[in-house]
Amino acid sequence: MVSYKELGLVNTREMFAKAIKGGYAIPAFNFNNMEQLQAIIKASAETKSPVILQVSKGARNYANQTLLRYMAQGAVEYAKELGWEHPQICLHLDHGDSFELCKSCVDFGFSSVMIDASSLPYEENIALTKKVVDYAHQYDVTVEAELGVLAGVEDEVSSAVSHYTKPEEVVDFATRTGCDSLAISIGTSHGAYKFTPEQCTRDPKTGRLVPPPLAFDVLDAIMEQLPGFPIVLHGSSSVPQEYVDMINQYGGKLPDAVGIPEEQLRKAAKSAVCKINIDSDSRLAFTAAVRKVFAEKPGEFDPRKYCGPARDLMTELYKHKIINVLGSDGKAE
Ligand SMILES: [Zn+2]
Repeated sequence: MVSYKELGLVNTREMFAKAIKGGYAIPAFNFNNMEQLQAIIKASAETKSPVILQVSKGARNYANQTLLRYMAQGAVEYAKELGWEHPQICLHLDHGDSFELCKSCVDFGFSSVMIDASSLPYEENIALTKKVVDYAHQYDVTVEAELGVLAGVEDEVSSAVSHYTKPEEVVDFATRTGCDSLAISIGTSHGAYKFTPEQCTRDPKTGRLVPPPLAFDVLDAIMEQLPGFPIVLHGSSSVPQEYVDMINQYGGKLPDAVGIPEEQLRKAAKSAVCKINIDSDSRLAFTAAVRKVFAEKPGEFDPRKYCGPARDLMTELYKHKIINVLGSDGKAE
């Protein structure tokens, strides 16, 4: 048993309370390699933004859970080295799909876990979520749950269609499970292809797809039912077209990739939405930078020469999100 407190990490309780009061959201960035982690920590330290490091089940299998834990511990020390006196860093399991996985993460130094039982029938979702909450809270680890189903693909999680969260269920669910935050479905979606061309309109000037707006009426109804309760948005990458263009320009093939417009996320961040998950955007930045180097310098074979530019582009992306979309800069001095 390793407590996250020994690693210098924090859970999400205080982060979320402050974010809701302050009208901003905490960035939740997924990572599975060193360059991503360096970029996340550098961006967070330079902007003094609290941050959630997310590890999916797939990332945990890819990178090894022991190594990830030490990386998170190293991240805290690295942040201090960068001059961030009191780093507010949370290590969070993204989309835990069983009690055993969540328990293992709690036991291995995670400060927060998500149990995603949203694909189960309502009562089973409650029962499994409560079981995780009861275990995690013994160690002061916070728990995110999910109600409603997002469309799209993220590691092992995939669904063809979305089902909006039902506002009439949220009070019963939050009360009976004791969860600390709730991921809801209001039209965000996992992956770089959040919407089919049929779901979108096309901008006649640029020829680009314009996605359907998020269901802010559903969000408002949920906030009315659960005033001040921390709400989480998954699948909230914006799929920056500059990265998509770079990838396509340098030999990639991502036709009609489309995400959530940043204005809509900025609007959400000002509400009770206090955690916004961003994964695909950093994958796109990484890939765009690597493709550019490969295309322009075909003789390059030192991984530092293409992972380095990828890291720089991701750092820029994370800072942009923190400052211009989430508004979390300067909130953890
Ligand atoms: Zn997700």
